[in-house]
Amino acid sequence: MNAPQHTTSPKNTLPSNIVMSGIRPTGMLHLGNYFGAIQNYVRMQEEYECFFMVADLHSLTTHPDTSTLKANVKRVLAENIACGLDPNKATFYCQSHIHETAELYLYLNMLAYKGELEKTVTFKDKARQHPENINAGLLTYPVLQTADIILHRASYVPVGKDQEQHLEMARNFVNRFNHRYGEVFPEPHAFNYNQELIKVPGLDGTGKMSKSENNMSTLYFADDDDAIRKKVMKAKTDNGPTEKNSIKPDYIENIFMLMKLVCSEDVISKYEADFNNCTIRYGELKKQLAEDMVNFMSPIRQKATDILANDAYLTEVMQKGAQKAQESAQKTMKIVREAIGLNYF
Ligand code: AMP
Repeated sequence: MNAPQHTTSPKNTLPSNIVMSGIRPTGMLHLGNYFGAIQNYVRMQEEYECFFMVADLHSLTTHPDTSTLKANVKRVLAENIACGLDPNKATFYCQSHIHETAELYLYLNMLAYKGELEKTVTFKDKARQHPENINAGLLTYPVLQTADIILHRASYVPVGKDQEQHLEMARNFVNRFNHRYGEVFPEPHAFNYNQELIKVPGLDGTGKMSKSENNMSTLYFADDDDAIRKKVMKAKTDNGPTEKNSIKPDYIENIFMLMKLVCSEDVISKYEADFNNCTIRYGELKKQLAEDMVNFMSPIRQKATDILANDAYLTEVMQKGAQKAQESAQKTMKIVREAIGLNYF
């Protein structure tokens, strides 16, 4: 096993070999989910004890209408498996099947302060986007996320850059718990094999790829080849630099970042050189990028379609995953109740 690498080092005396992460079933998986999270899941499942979940309870904080929830849960399961997550190697389950999460969430809520929750960037963003639904679940989202992670006493959490602050909060809650009730939990740390957490930008040059916002500038695994080509060809560019070796504008930097995810070294070097000597032709670059994206994404889409058609298999994955995750959760909760002092006989 490789020595664990993480963006910040665990200081706690109890680092585990356990990994935990989740994805909300709020829409179709996209390139950001893959490079921010799933790519690491697939590698980590070979080296660590892994728990990955479909975060259906989290989705209720922003998506109270559950009419598409079941279909979305199945899609997220199928798309993760199509990307290489192996339910025989990792425990892969649905968050709502593990009731112990709600109990731990309750205890952790007593250790989380209103002021720090209100300052969370994702809370402020979501409150701005949905002023009609600023619910307590949204405010305490980082607490529920902490419960998900530490329910398995995980140390490593493969996530994208947008989750950095939540992991920092998780460490605060864990340290408060350990300080008050004894050393029960290891500190959880955001993890990426390449050290730096990743943010896959949107094709329009602003924001990030996302399941539920930014649809035209997000590449979904469910997009057909033509949709992928169309979206890439619409990506924001300009007439090219007029001075040699100039600094790339943000939206061009983003396109180069997307190329680094799917194009060969040769292709990237060619366009870097073309940019630096002002001969770059963005139409040609985008055609190349579109074809490389199609080649990367289309086999995953085809696999996901086959898996989605096999409902019995997906049910079996969920049932087996729930059973394994419950065993782990029950073990932890026994320790937690005793540590808190909730053992009267
Ligand atoms: P979500 O789609 O918000 O449930 O996030 C699931 C996982 O994908 C989390 O680990 C996120 O950090 C990661 N993720 C989502 N969008 C992006 C993105 N544009 N770039 C990198 N990682 C992302």
